[in-house]
Amino acid sequence: MVKERARILVVGGGYVGMYTALRLQRKLKAELRRGEVEITVVTPDPYMTYQPFLPEAAAGSISPRHVVVPLRRVLPRCHVVVGEVISVDHEVRTAAVSTPATAEEGMAADLLGYDEIVLAPGSVSRTLPVPGLAEYGIGFKTVEEAIGLRNHVLEQLDIASSTRDPAIRDAALTFVFVGGGYAGVEALAELEDMARYAVRYYHNIRPEDMRWILVEASDRILPEVGAELGRYTVTQLRRRNVQVLLETRLDSCADRVAVLSDGQRFPTRTVVWTAGVKPHPVLAATDLPLTPRGRLRCTAELTVDGAAHAWGAGDAAAVPDVTAADPGTDTAPNAQHAVRQARTLGDNIAHALRGEPLETYAHRYVGSVASLGFHKGVAQVYGRKLKGYPAWFMHRVYHLSRVPTFNRKARVLAEWTLAGLFKREIVSLGSLEHPRAEFELAAGGKPPHSPSDDPKGSS
Ligand SMILES: Cc1cc2nc3c(=O)[nH]c(=O)nc-3n(C[C@H](O)[C@H](O)[C@H](O)COP(=O)(O)OP(=O)(O)OC[C@H]3O[C@@H](n4cnc5c(N)ncnc54)[C@H](O)[C@@H]3O)c2cc1C
Repeated sequence: MVKERARILVVGGGYVGMYTALRLQRKLKAELRRGEVEITVVTPDPYMTYQPFLPEAAAGSISPRHVVVPLRRVLPRCHVVVGEVISVDHEVRTAAVSTPATAEEGMAADLLGYDEIVLAPGSVSRTLPVPGLAEYGIGFKTVEEAIGLRNHVLEQLDIASSTRDPAIRDAALTFVFVGGGYAGVEALAELEDMARYAVRYYHNIRPEDMRWILVEASDRILPEVGAELGRYTVTQLRRRNVQVLLETRLDSCADRVAVLSDGQRFPTRTVVWTAGVKPHPVLAATDLPLTPRGRLRCTAELTVDGAAHAWGAGDAAAVPDVTAADPGTDTAPNAQHAVRQARTLGDNIAHALRGEPLETYAHRYVGSVASLGFHKGVAQVYGRKLKGYPAWFMHRVYHLSRVPTFNRKARVLAEWTLAGLFKREIVSLGSLEHPRAEFELAAGGKPPHSPSDDPKGSS
């Protein structure tokens, strides 16, 4: 039984937000039933995105709706509010929330009172002031971006196949990815694999006509799987004709020309930016303590340092890594920590409400798995290194075991099984992004959106 009635506000419905709410639902079942506790989850989308599946969604191996988990279905005992927290005044325990309804009503925001707050807004892409990036760059953090990129790549093949202008053809067939972490490497590897397969259905494009380029500022890629497997990945990608450019930066992509720090210039219609993440900017709109890098300063018990009744975890939080040799180390922003921190966080809120002692978050990083396309991968788990098919298989087994809900697991497994039996899907459904275009034209409105209008290619 909790001491007083508690309103718990969870900001964010990603890994930390969803898993914390799931844990709270279980741990505080009786209190929720008696009305002693109320849990509200505020999140811009009514679903949690399983981000490690985004590269496979982009390649068409998993349907977009199976990469996401519907929050209302898995959190029946919580209030799910679709909206964004725009500021938090922890001093008076209120959060300003903008929702589709507040916008409709012409109001800036609703004020939500709370007794405990969990801040889990995750991270956003870390961009640099590179000319042209804001206009032409494509991110890779959301399911919309992953599917938009898939459609865009397939559209480039159509443009290359139908143009008579060699300059347009070359630019359409040049794909530049910036950032060699798992998001960039997996996205490039999966899409290259998909495009290589797709061009067999184009009479005038050969795989070697495409140019795939990975630009990485440091001297290695995939640091998550260790130096040896990082080098192996470079070799494998180069064998597939991917240009892996280490110790190189993107200096500009203005006017659709990617200019690199080594002086190379590539006219291109595709610049994918996966050069790291930074804490979500909403944290700066709170009165809670932040690190110089903008992460929420947390303790190993996942409380916000020096702020009672405030909690944080995941990409947004700087949580001390108590397993690290160096005492100043924080846990890395990845799903492995996010999921486990959420579990401890949920337990600790229940402990705090019942006046019990808090648990310390401790987890030693166990390694990483990465897919490099169909039947290709690298993995380092508990010090064991795997390459090629065994690593790819392990990647699938691991993520199937991790993707939330039995329902999702069954659907993803069914899709993988069917994909093994039939040919790959190579259709671009970019027009889904503009469903009214045809009717607008028929009704005498503006002409339908053309792919060349939009750097992100959503025609
Ligand atoms: C392509 C890709 C592949 C990845 N692969 C792996 C992998 O293989 N292994 C691994 O360990 N990690 C991987 N990661 C990283 C992993 O997904 C993140 O570390 C993890 O999602 C962090 O969880 P989180 O809850 O902190 O943030 P998120 O899961 O990003 O959740 C944040 C949530 O907060 C919401 N939000 C944002 N602003 C607000 C606001 N103002 N108000 C309310 N809600 C808000 C967001 O919409 C989102 O729902 C990958 C990431 C990407 C992009």
